Amino acid sequence: MWYFTDEEKQLQEVCRDFARKEIAPHAEKHDTEETFNLEAFRKMGELGVLGITADPEYGGAGMGCLAATLVMEEFGKACPGLTLSYLAHSILAVNNIQNNASKEQKAKYLPKLVTGEHIGCMGMSEPEYGSDAIGIQTRAKKNGDHYTINGTKMWITNAQYSDIAYVYTRTGEEKKNLSTFILEKDKGHYEVGKPIHKMGMRGSPTGELIFDNISCPAENLVGEEGQSVYHMMKNLDIERLTIAGISLGIAQACTDQCIKYANERKQFGKNIGDYQLIQKMIAEMATETEMMRNFLYNLCYRYDQGERGPVTAAMAKLQIPKMATKIALDAIQLHGGYGYSREFPVERLMRDNKLNEIGAGTNEVMIMIIAKNLLKEAAN
Ligand SMILES: Cc1cc2nc3c(=O)[nH]c(=O)nc-3n(C[C@H](O)[C@H](O)[C@H](O)COP(=O)(O)OP(=O)(O)OC[C@H]3O[C@@H](n4cnc5c(N)ncnc54)[C@H](O)[C@@H]3O)c2cc1C
Repeated sequence: MWYFTDEEKQLQEVCRDFARKEIAPHAEKHDTEETFNLEAFRKMGELGVLGITADPEYGGAGMGCLAATLVMEEFGKACPGLTLSYLAHSILAVNNIQNNASKEQKAKYLPKLVTGEHIGCMGMSEPEYGSDAIGIQTRAKKNGDHYTINGTKMWITNAQYSDIAYVYTRTGEEKKNLSTFILEKDKGHYEVGKPIHKMGMRGSPTGELIFDNISCPAENLVGEEGQSVYHMMKNLDIERLTIAGISLGIAQACTDQCIKYANERKQFGKNIGDYQLIQKMIAEMATETEMMRNFLYNLCYRYDQGERGPVTAAMAKLQIPKMATKIALDAIQLHGGYGYSREFPVERLMRDNKLNEIGAGTNEVMIMIIAKNLLKEAAN
């Protein structure tokens, strides 16, 4: 259990109810058909969560990382795919604009993103540059009062549905000379390439952003030229904590489903929940989920108190999705053949969760961040 503010408690209840009514009943269909629940996404605007961390001045909820993580957890229990799209919009696009853009840019872009009239995405990864994000090659070159951009972004969540893209580019030869732009699809600032078909998170559209000699006004540059690495690093912590929130929701959904099934399924004349091997699985998954919850809420709370840093966010991002994959695999095992079929949600939850060990930095990259920082600190 955690001590939430009244506002956070209310948010949790409202999101739980919304997920039960608007998200869960359609999750299986969107996974099977590989489609996006646009209707529920737009309704999230009415619910007031699309700009969860944006200033109320722009229509946002003005809340913090813990609140955003609570939304991820509640939505993640119902449909991790739609929740990933929600994360790409609210954290990768909206929160980045909130934290890094000018007052004029915020006033121009945030109100429509917060209501859901516009959908946002964030383009960092490229076909040849994923973990090595600082190496990106999409180039922006200044020509008077415009920039010309060339390159391709890969794996972009919401690409097909996006109106606004928050995009990282290279503006100089030095490795760290990167700059960010807010680009608008209807102004021809980018094209969307082919959709990417995936193992999981199939309710979340993924695609390419293509920049073929496009021109955008210099006023679309965020901050100063060359400031992107700073922007990038600043947002990664909240991105990693909130994506761990989706895995927490997945772990809880698997645990709930297992408890229900163990009380219903009979073999050898008894409920399978009467067998100690099944009880062990349930006891362990429930305990691990509770540990994950307390660890994550604690880190989010500390983030909201101003305690920032890549190590703890990387720890959450490494361990919580990894434990959720183990729990989801156990949940399949507990369901026997039915767990391996599409009759029950556990196989979808496992496929969806695997992404969280890859996106927003892979497990291996998280290990690298944690170890490098700890060793450097000790050496100093
Ligand atoms: C469904 C989905 C949605 C996504 N959404 C977005 C999005 O909205 N925006 C965006 O910009 N990106 C997005 N991504 C991209 C995601 O962030 C990258 O896939 C991720 O960072 C890994 O990059 P990569 O796929 O190029 O793998 P690579 O970097 O090529 O890694 C391949 C393997 O090598 C390992 N590896 C790499 N470097 C090292 C090292 N130094 N030491 C040890 N091992 C290493 C990796 O851990 C991995 O196992 C998304 C990806 C997916 C699959």
